[in-house]
Amino acid sequence: MTDLTQLSITDALQQLRDKTISAVELTQAYLARIEKLEPSIRAYITLTPERALKDAEAADAARARGEDKPLLGIPLAIKDVLSTSGVQTTCGSKILDGYVPVYTATVVQRLEAAGMVMLGKVNMDEFAMGSSTENSAYQITRNPWDTTRVPGGSSGGSAAAVAACMAAGALGTDTGGSVRTPAGFCGIVGLKPSYGRVSRYGLVAFGSSLDCIGPMARTVADAALLLQVIAGHDPLDSTSMALDVPDYAAALTKSIKGLKVGVPKEYFIEGLQKDTSDAILAAIDQLRSLGAQTVEISLPHTDYSLPVYYIIAPAEASANLARYDGIRFGPKVDKGQMWDTYKATRGQGFGPEVKRRIMLGTYALSAGYYDAYYGKAQQVRTLIKQDFEKAFTQVDVIAAPVTPHTAFKIGQNTNDPLQMYLEDVFTLPASLAGVPGLSLPCGTDSAGLPIGLQLIGRAFSEEVLLRAAHAYEQSTEWHKALAKV
Ligand code: GLN
Repeated sequence: MTDLTQLSITDALQQLRDKTISAVELTQAYLARIEKLEPSIRAYITLTPERALKDAEAADAARARGEDKPLLGIPLAIKDVLSTSGVQTTCGSKILDGYVPVYTATVVQRLEAAGMVMLGKVNMDEFAMGSSTENSAYQITRNPWDTTRVPGGSSGGSAAAVAACMAAGALGTDTGGSVRTPAGFCGIVGLKPSYGRVSRYGLVAFGSSLDCIGPMARTVADAALLLQVIAGHDPLDSTSMALDVPDYAAALTKSIKGLKVGVPKEYFIEGLQKDTSDAILAAIDQLRSLGAQTVEISLPHTDYSLPVYYIIAPAEASANLARYDGIRFGPKVDKGQMWDTYKATRGQGFGPEVKRRIMLGTYALSAGYYDAYYGKAQQVRTLIKQDFEKAFTQVDVIAAPVTPHTAFKIGQNTNDPLQMYLEDVFTLPASLAGVPGLSLPCGTDSAGLPIGLQLIGRAFSEEVLLRAAHAYEQSTEWHKALAKV
């Protein structure tokens, strides 16, 4: 019998519905796999096995009563930036060590209502700042394809858990690439939805105008299923859009004949690893052979995405992180006087990258510099957004790399923050424009490491991305390869 943990969500659901397996068996298989692999992968910050087994028993009981739900009995992992009532939520930071939220994020509530079994909370860069998960204050998560390498970040725990079959799927968050990059590095599917498609209520804020919650899974159909459950308007998040959510599973079955795929010249630049560009170009050929038309396009302001993002995201972060002062949130380092207490608490509680972002952001927002930095960055952000609007008058989807190269070695970029920021060049533009981006496996490099193809779409056109990705996936073998851990 195949290992139950290797089943896609879609296949596991079929077997649960056919009653050839139970949710308890499936959950036990995941818990056993986690016990075996967690010492070498270190994906989880908090494991919730008792709760998982209770959820699984409840799922089996519901099924025995004849009930069915979209994810009834499916074991998932949740990034530790999403509030979970009664379960510690650290954001990968010591400043939230032991913090137990009193309410649950809307997305997690929706997964619970759909019948998920929560296995635990997974590792991330502190406050989602990073591209490798090395900025976690707890542990370094390892890439299941090569444990000397990073899983990507900041949703590295989510990606590693899914790639190592230590969860059937996961939620991650993407502010500037944090779902797409780890999905690419770990050879799985990751979708950053359009800004406003998914409620942020209960997501601990990093860059509020950029933060998006997205599904991570081993197949496109699984990602579509997870998105279906979490998407849609939420009165508790005023930036979530009151738009109908399409039937994503139905969208997968349509053909991509005539689909116009744009190939942006600014994404095929010097410094792009040869194996990566070869794989992306081969994937574009494959889309063409499935009936898509390809068009060369230009997104002329692409180069500005990096400086613009690294003004706007830290500026918003510096405001959002002001609440961690030992009084409103965080374990207090009491120094008697208020300012001394703030200073000591924040000095001990935050890691170096978070401090760097707070300083950058505070500087960019300070009187006298606001117009020159923050104001200017917002203006250029509009130009980046307009690049996409213009491109999408010509094409339906844009195909590009996710990252300039495959997963790098642990420690390689830790002393060079700028080098780390450069990892984000291809993911930041879609984040700044608020449009959806999907990463899916499209090859391996000469070292056998996964390569990710990025598909970018018009705002709220997730179904088009999923359709193109599914057609590609089903016509290739890449998604079938599992990390050999
Ligand atoms: N790597 C980017 C950063 O460090 C993006 C992170 C994210 O998307 N959360 O800010």
